[in-house]
Formats: sequence, C-alpha cells, structure tokens
Amino acid sequence: MNQPSKFDQILDLFLLRMKAPEYHTGEPYYTTGSIVAAALFRVFIIGIGGFIYFKSYSSSNSTWIIVLFAIWGIGVYPAWIQYQRFNESVEQITKGTLCGSCRHLNKTNQLCMILDEHITSEEPPCEGEAWEPLQ
Ligand code: SF4
Repeated sequence: MNQPSKFDQILDLFLLRMKAPEYHTGEPYYTTGSIVAAALFRVFIIGIGGFIYFKSYSSSNSTWIIVLFAIWGIGVYPAWIQYQRFNESVEQITKGTLCGSCRHLNKTNQLCMILDEHITSEEPPCEGEAWEPLQ
C-alpha cells in the first residue's frame, strides 16, 4: 500500500481531492461532516489570509473580489463536488447492498449504528444477522 507524501497529507488536511486517494481504505473518504468541516476550514483560512493581505498590503476593493472568488473556487466548489461523490457512494450502498435496506444504516456517514462501523463494501459487517427492515 502506498504511503501518503507530505503533499498528499496537506491535500487530505484540507480535503482538496475530488476522489479518494489509492492509499485510503476502510472508512469512507468523504462524509457529510468532513466535507462541511473542511469547507469551513478552507473558507476561514482564505478569509483570514484575505483580511491580513487587505490590512497589510492592499486596501483596494479588488482584494475582496479575489477573496470572494477564492472562497468560491477553493472553499465551496470542491465541497459541492465532494458532496456529489458522497451521494453517489451512498446511492451505491443503498441500492446494491443488504445494509442499504436496513434500518440501522445511517446514510449521512455510511455508518452502521449498532456496530459503529462504516459500510464500505457489499458485505454487511454483521453478515446479515442484525439486519432489520426499514419502516
Ligand atoms: S445491522 Fe447489519 S445489515 Fe444493518 S446496517 Fe448494520 S451491518 Fe448492515
């Protein structure tokens, strides 16, 4: 298995990928919480950086226009794409697995609520023994 480089670790920290890296296995790479948290983190850093730049170097209004574009392009847009990927992954699980028809699946984070385990494959971690139908 490949180990993440420093650059990979920075990309992962800011969740700036459009798909999961090859070295990532086990838990889902994207969850609703991680997407929102990473987007807020990026927007916060861009906002702080823009504010510092505005106060220190340039007080022109064009600085804020650039900051707004950066917030959209680096902060929000990747989160929107990642949310689409996450929804595709949830749809695959929902339609193609036993867990998808089980009441214990929490779709917002692909988690089996009674085993506290992420559902990442077609094999249910409980092997079907704890399955209960949706109501
Ligand atoms: S109880 Fe079993 S079938 Fe239901 S979500 Fe958990 S692992 Fe899947």
